[in-house]
Amino acid sequence: MGVTLDSLSRDQLEALLAEQQQAYAALQQAGLKLDITRGKPSAAQLDLSKDLLTTPLEDTTSDGVDVRNYGGGTGLPELRAIFAELLGIPVEQLVAGNNASLSMMHDTLVFALLHGTPEGGTPWKDGPVRFLCPAPGYDRHFAICQHLGIEMITIDMLEDGPDMAAVREHVADPAVKGMWLVPTYSNPTGAIVSEEVAAELASLETAAPDFRIMWDNAYAVHDLTDEHAKSADILGLCTASGHANRALVFASTSKVTLAGSGVSFLGGSPENVAWYLSHTAVRTIGPDKVNQLRHARFLGSPQGVLDLMARHREILRPKFDAVQQILSERLGEHGVATWTTPKGGYFVNLDVVDGTATRVVQLAREAGIALTPAGASFPYGKDPRDRNIRIAPSFPPLEELTRAMEGLTTCVLLAAAEKALAA
Ligand code: PMP
Repeated sequence: MGVTLDSLSRDQLEALLAEQQQAYAALQQAGLKLDITRGKPSAAQLDLSKDLLTTPLEDTTSDGVDVRNYGGGTGLPELRAIFAELLGIPVEQLVAGNNASLSMMHDTLVFALLHGTPEGGTPWKDGPVRFLCPAPGYDRHFAICQHLGIEMITIDMLEDGPDMAAVREHVADPAVKGMWLVPTYSNPTGAIVSEEVAAELASLETAAPDFRIMWDNAYAVHDLTDEHAKSADILGLCTASGHANRALVFASTSKVTLAGSGVSFLGGSPENVAWYLSHTAVRTIGPDKVNQLRHARFLGSPQGVLDLMARHREILRPKFDAVQQILSERLGEHGVATWTTPKGGYFVNLDVVDGTATRVVQLAREAGIALTPAGASFPYGKDPRDRNIRIAPSFPPLEELTRAMEGLTTCVLLAAAEKALAA
């Protein structure tokens, strides 16, 4: 039976350190080459959508659009109908694009910076622009802000959404033009934004009249259990509160079908959709409708998507279970870490002893286990407590994941023992 590090005497701590150093030396000798960095689907998951590549296609859709040709900037109605239902968005308010919803998010911000929003205010670039960034959060959201010169304000991501006290305080600043949010099975903590928090975000008085919620519902249908987490209807809530343009919803099939060849979606008020399309019409003569039709035929219906997600779950679930089991068995009794038990999504959020995350990632790297850099889930890569590590169980085969997780726990314990002794 183990004991938490706090209750150990110096001799006991030294013994623990020696034990972990030995385990770590063995780990280094094992010559591992493992990678649990990015939340990519595994080859087995991609294989679930193999038929997408051979689905027979007609040239023309039910409404007479020749998918091979230019045009159709809003995307194919049959595919939009499937995802409109899944996302709870009226089909005429949902645009289907090319692969990568991230590029829709990027473009939306570029359009607002260069041209302003439909509310008619000045282009955002004409003044300071700040964004609220619930953290831990998605590193690529933060990368977009950094790349576009949008100043990021870190606020805490809690179990039911962003820390609303911090949100209330910051939206009094007219330069705060928006915020990021992953409402369902958030990256990386698995948090789900509650109805109450969503309703408050929708109704909140903000100093910026063109405040935007970048509602990135990347994991809307990515349940890991039989329970389905229904996302709050942010567009409906915003409209009901008199802020119809406040929320922009994003989603994609990247983790439904093929991560590199999926279809992205943008949902918004009729005014936001028209605004978005008016700008994209300059940059493209239309999206890849062949791929959209292929997706519509392959997925078939909202139920077809849910059935496919159930097959993903069969592959993902044992991996997430293994992560939980190894963390509890190896770390549970020592009080050196806390972690999330997500009911969906792609990540497990691990918080180690304050001030040791960088050391853990370094130890792991030197033993051949690649982890996401410490701090990656925070704006500017700066975790104020240097404790956060994002675990992405999806990509490696179960056996590799197990070895990587076992190795990681050795690194966590070693770094904790080093720190306790240095104190
Ligand atoms: N949003 C979140 C929260 C994600 O975790 C990811 C993928 N890791 C994406 C967006 C990327 O989506 P897409 O492939 O549609 O660009």
